[in-house]
Amino acid sequence: EKLTNIRNFSIIAHIDHGKSTLADRFLLHTKTIEERTFHDQVLDAMDLERERGITIKSHPVRMHYDADDGRTYVFNLIDTPGHVDFSYEVSRSLAACEGAILLIDAAQGVQAQTLANANLALHQKLTIIPVINKIDLPAADVDMCLEQVEELLAIPRDEVLKVSAKSGMGVKELLEAVVARVPPPETDPAQPLQALVFDSVYDVYRGVVSFVRVVNGSVKVGESIRFFNTDLTTEVKEVGYFSPGMKPSASLLQGEVGYIITTIKTPGDIHVGDTITGYLRACKQPLAGFQHVRPMVFSGIYPIDTADYEALKANIAKLRLNDSAFVAQPESSIALGAGFRCGFLGLLHMEIVQERLRREYNMELLLTYPSVIYHVFMRDGSMKEVDNPLHMPDPSHISHVEEPMIKSQIIAPATYLGAIMNLVMDKRGICLKTDNVDHIHVMITARLPLHEIVLDFYDKLKTVTRGYGSMDYEPDGYETSPTVKLEILVNSEPVDAFASIVHADRAVYRARMICERLREAIPPQMFKVAIQGAVGGRIIAREDVRQLRKNVLAKCYGGDITRKRKLLDKQKEGKKRMKEVGNVNIPPEAFVAVLRAS
Ligand code: GDP
Ligand code: MG
Repeated sequence: EKLTNIRNFSIIAHIDHGKSTLADRFLLHTKTIEERTFHDQVLDAMDLERERGITIKSHPVRMHYDADDGRTYVFNLIDTPGHVDFSYEVSRSLAACEGAILLIDAAQGVQAQTLANANLALHQKLTIIPVINKIDLPAADVDMCLEQVEELLAIPRDEVLKVSAKSGMGVKELLEAVVARVPPPETDPAQPLQALVFDSVYDVYRGVVSFVRVVNGSVKVGESIRFFNTDLTTEVKEVGYFSPGMKPSASLLQGEVGYIITTIKTPGDIHVGDTITGYLRACKQPLAGFQHVRPMVFSGIYPIDTADYEALKANIAKLRLNDSAFVAQPESSIALGAGFRCGFLGLLHMEIVQERLRREYNMELLLTYPSVIYHVFMRDGSMKEVDNPLHMPDPSHISHVEEPMIKSQIIAPATYLGAIMNLVMDKRGICLKTDNVDHIHVMITARLPLHEIVLDFYDKLKTVTRGYGSMDYEPDGYETSPTVKLEILVNSEPVDAFASIVHADRAVYRARMICERLREAIPPQMFKVAIQGAVGGRIIAREDVRQLRKNVLAKCYGGDITRKRKLLDKQKEGKKRMKEVGNVNIPPEAFVAVLRAS
């Protein structure tokens, strides 16, 4: 059975090409929100999103569209993030849709993420509506975009719509195209309830809110439902849809997108990708879940104030509910105390998680040097996966190490080709081929170590291409690489939090940098303290902390007793905040200085 009045679709694009602005325009056009309550990017609810101007989470929203054929359609629009690290969010959203609007910035043209997102949509067999946005810009080059769409996406140019999300030009035609081109959802009336959980958030007052796409059947308040994969039974307390805020309704019907709140309060009990079915009438099979995402980058997260540990633990659990690609396991460090070893999809993902913990939960954190998953081959023939320098085996037992590689697609104006090739080489990569995108742009396919991407490749690419280069990447096997564990010793004792896994050629440079930063950040000590960098027991860098000559009280000349006490108290307080390593008090600032990126 076809649900002819419903259209479920997403907007996909490279970052900044105008997804959120177009979503805003749709909301205004369909009067889902009123002009006077409107502010830009209403769907980007998190402060962080508005500040960085990127969409991190997808927000589904329901609209009523009065079409030219005289009928009113229900549109469920799912806004998606555009950044390379978040393609798992995009594919999750796409699983709830039948169609996708593929937006292309008229001045920028097709970028690496445009291609990657288009491929995700094609893979899920969605109908794609190609749209060129920002045609109001003086720099708009619609012909270039049409040429690229034909060349790279093999879409005929007469299928492409042209709009300005900002001015509203062409938006009405686009809404009509959604009605005409996106297929209505299909459902099987003989089936019991089957709803796909494509996202979830934790709400302090209501507990876990699941975002669902109802594929078959319906769900009402008061009913008992079952989560298929976790086999948890619960009662429905509220259902509704987003308009754009949460609007409760009596039920959610087949083909619809909305939310379900149950009696479940524990974030970990609900898994994104699970199928919700009826308790009395259950489905036999779950819906096809999502491709399981595996974190590729790892780092330790520690509270600067050890008293924050319990709060950090609770907040990490809440964040994980909202972000299934983020994993965390308790870990403890001699220098930093109790914390978590966390896994992320990429560097931006790591930064965002860190920012969200800092900002939404207001806590100061330390992150250790990022690592990828190394394959460590032992002399006895076995292989270990290592993503943490603490677990790196003794070098005398290692035969060789392999590191993960990625295949990257970089799109940029041809004038930057030389600079990009140099950058790829500098980052230990090789260029596999270059293709023409149109008469100005080229697409470079390169193979690089993932670790370099995690460090700063993306920032460097933006710099050498003056912002015109874009990239996307996918895992591409492993490669043998001279990889070592770099240890930092303070007063001859290794500080676990400062250890890192690095390429042998970079070890000396990194060791010197850390030693210098530590020398600057550690206050003068009563005795001479050496800070050393070592690989496999061999010292490769050294700095000395200044020695303290005068006693703090010396300048008081034994006089004013209250002043003396104050000084002593101050010193005590300072001590409390410090971590002691090898008889040396290291202030939190030193950890921050050493562990800051780059
Ligand atoms: P997103 O990252 O794809 O969600 O992009 P946004 O919707 O946040 O838009 C990125 C920037 O492009 C913002 O500064 C928008 O104001 C601007 N923008 C979006 N659509 C248009 C348009 O049609 N014309 C112009 N001139 N600017 C636009
Ligand atoms: Mg956005």
